[in-house]
Amino acid sequence: MINKEKEEYFKKLLTRNLLELFGQANKIILSSAEFEDRAADFLDIASLESNVAVFYRITERQARLISKVKRTLEKIETGEFGICEECGDEISEQRLMVRPVADLCIDCKRAKEVMERHKGL
Ligand SMILES: [Zn+2]
Repeated sequence: MINKEKEEYFKKLLTRNLLELFGQANKIILSSAEFEDRAADFLDIASLESNVAVFYRITERQARLISKVKRTLEKIETGEFGICEECGDEISEQRLMVRPVADLCIDCKRAKEVMERHKGL
């Protein structure tokens, strides 16, 4: 089970990811202090969802990533973080460390990949 301490860790990690994505989008490099200062602004802007791509001229891929990171942050708030969306099992901490935005456990992820491969044939 993901404990409070770990939740905080992932929350910080994901917030930083989000800010980095915006940073990339803007091609600006902010110092750590600036990151912290502007975090609230960025998160506010991120909530404008549909307008964000326009404002920041970000790529579709970045926009997708941003919404994924945002959703994961919401999951931390609602206590759904680390739970597989497919089977309801816990996603291993090891997997979350590598990929904090993972929404499927490794078994479901593999099963999905196999299915998608079959579809592609
Ligand atoms: Zn699963």
